[in-house]
Amino acid sequence: MEPFEALREAGRIASKVRDTTLAEIEPGIKVEYICDLVNQRVAEMGGKMAFPCNVDIDHVAAHYCAPINDKTVIPERSLVKLDVGVHVDGYIADTAKTVSFDPSYDYLVEAATAGLDAAIQTIRPGVRANEIGAAIEDAIRSHGAKPIRNLTGHKLARYVVHAGKSIPNVNGHDRHLINEGDVYAIEPFAVPSTADGLVTDGPPSNIYRMQKRRSVKGTAKKMQKYIQAEYRTLPFASRWVMRKFSSDKGVEAFQELLYAKSIMSYPQLIESSHAKVAQAEHSVIVTEDGCEVTTA
Ligand code: MN
Ligand code: MN
Repeated sequence: MEPFEALREAGRIASKVRDTTLAEIEPGIKVEYICDLVNQRVAEMGGKMAFPCNVDIDHVAAHYCAPINDKTVIPERSLVKLDVGVHVDGYIADTAKTVSFDPSYDYLVEAATAGLDAAIQTIRPGVRANEIGAAIEDAIRSHGAKPIRNLTGHKLARYVVHAGKSIPNVNGHDRHLINEGDVYAIEPFAVPSTADGLVTDGPPSNIYRMQKRRSVKGTAKKMQKYIQAEYRTLPFASRWVMRKFSSDKGVEAFQELLYAKSIMSYPQLIESSHAKVAQAEHSVIVTEDGCEVTTA
């Protein structure tokens, strides 16, 4: 498949799975059920997971994924982000939406969505990244909220989710130029205007990535080979590996790979004042006079 067609196909799958799954999220439902549903639907549509789906509740801005046998359920009156990544032949779509179970936080969802819309209107060849950040920040502030300033959108490359260049969510010093044919994920996060508007590292996310091939033996060796073949440079869930290696030896082998720095763990990203966070994200291809949203 031609690269742009693969990007569009990944986008079609990711947006469909995002919307059908988001519609089923409600208080009392298990997070592990939601994560499994996303995996199943992506596979049914012929895509592969570009990263484990994130189900981020309230002040968790990013990177929570269910471990195996997770007991976490969606709380009453919560704000829930569903972030889905799909790839087709390595070409990635990354998209997220937020559902609010407390009307007093609806404005955060509207603010994040307005920030994303403003960015999509602004991005085109020749624009500088901080101009897009300024458009996002203005739109979010006009809704009585503020952006999280140390989370950004990011360039997408084949088999690479964070390919170097960023799209900031605030005005600032990132003046790199946007070029035709670039592929970006744009993802504003909105918090109440009284919040810090910053994230810090929290507990482990249950999301991992291959770091370097190490000389390990036995089950750990088999597991390392499996991870490298299945996920390459892309993030994966411990849950996926534990289901494939479902014995005590599997648990030990996973720890061994972590200890040997064969794989690395991502932390959850927590809003530092524990404020509720809303997120909106689309992936776009920069065209001659604007952009094409692949995850609309
Ligand atoms: Mn995302
Ligand atoms: Mn992203």
